[in-house]
Amino acid sequence: MKSHDIEHAMKLAYQQYKHNQSGANASYIPALAGVDSELFAIAAVTLEGDVITIGDAQRHFAIESISKAFNLSLAMDDWGAKELRAKVGSEATGEGFNSVMALELHKGRPMSPLVNAGAISTVSLVKASSADERWDRMSQRFESLCGQPLALMEEVYSSESDNNEHNRGISWLLKSYGYMYSDTEDALDLYTRMCSFGVTTRDLAMMASCYASGGANPLTRQQVVHASNVPEILADMVMEGLYTGSGSWLYDNGLPAKSGVGGGVICVVPGVMGLAAFSPKLDSSGNSIRARLALTEMIAHLRLNPLVTRWKEL
Ligand code: GLU
Repeated sequence: MKSHDIEHAMKLAYQQYKHNQSGANASYIPALAGVDSELFAIAAVTLEGDVITIGDAQRHFAIESISKAFNLSLAMDDWGAKELRAKVGSEATGEGFNSVMALELHKGRPMSPLVNAGAISTVSLVKASSADERWDRMSQRFESLCGQPLALMEEVYSSESDNNEHNRGISWLLKSYGYMYSDTEDALDLYTRMCSFGVTTRDLAMMASCYASGGANPLTRQQVVHASNVPEILADMVMEGLYTGSGSWLYDNGLPAKSGVGGGVICVVPGVMGLAAFSPKLDSSGNSIRARLALTEMIAHLRLNPLVTRWKEL
C-alpha cells in the first residue's frame, strides 16, 4: 500500500470528524476528566517503516487499556497461548470492561485478558521473582514495541491509584477464585502503572505495527513478540478489544483493535500497518468516538476490511 494513499485517507478522515463533539471524557479517573477534549490525532506506521500522522500526534496521553493488548504478549511469550487461555480465558464477556458480574457469572474466571479482571490476572502471570523484576520486564516489553522508553504519567498513576476501589475489589475476587498468580496488591499496582504509561498517537501506531508484522518492530527490526503468539493476541482483540462495542466495530471494520479510556484506539492491519487514533471523548462502552469514527473511515476508504471480498477484483 502506498504511503500517499494512506496519507490522503487520513486527511479525509481527520477533516470529516475534526468538529465532532459527541461523547464525554472518562470521569471515574479524575486526571482523565481534565484532558483537553479538543485533542484529535491519527497515525499509521507501515511495515516498510513509513510513519504518517495528522493532528495532535505528538501529544502524550494515558495508554490505559491499550496496554492490556501489549502486556498480553509478554505473558503469552512466557506461558504460551494455550496455557494463557486455560489460566485466564479467551472469550468475550459481553459485559463492561470492569464488570464484577461477568466475573461472578463465570466463577471468577476472567474470560478475556482484555477486560480489567483478565488484564490484572495477566499481569500476575508475567514471570518474575519480585514485583520490581516484573515491572522491569513489562517496561522493557513496552519499550521494545515502541522503539523507545515510555514514561509514566505520574498524575494519572496517582489519580488512578487513589480511586482504585473497583479494580481492587476485582483483584481480590480473582484471588478468592484462584485466578491471581502473584501477590494481589502488587498485581493491581503494576496493572495501574502500565495503564498510566504516557504515549503519543504515533507511539501507539508504532506498537500496533509490531503486531501487523508478526511481532517485529518495523523500525528497529527487532523481533519483539514470538510470531506464533500474534494470531492469538489478535483474536483476543477481535473478541473483546472494544468491550461491548467489539461486535459493532467488527461489523464495520473486520479488523482487530483495542481501545483505552484515555481516548486512544489502535487497529492492526495484518501484513500492512499499525493504525492509531486519539481523542478523549468516549461513548458509553468506553471507546473514543472520534478515534473510532476516523479509523473506520480510513479502513473503508483504503478497503482494508478483510471480510469484504469483491469478486471482480479476485
Ligand atoms: N485503567 C483503566 C481501568 O482500570 C483502564 C480501563 C480502560 O481503558 O478501558 O479502569
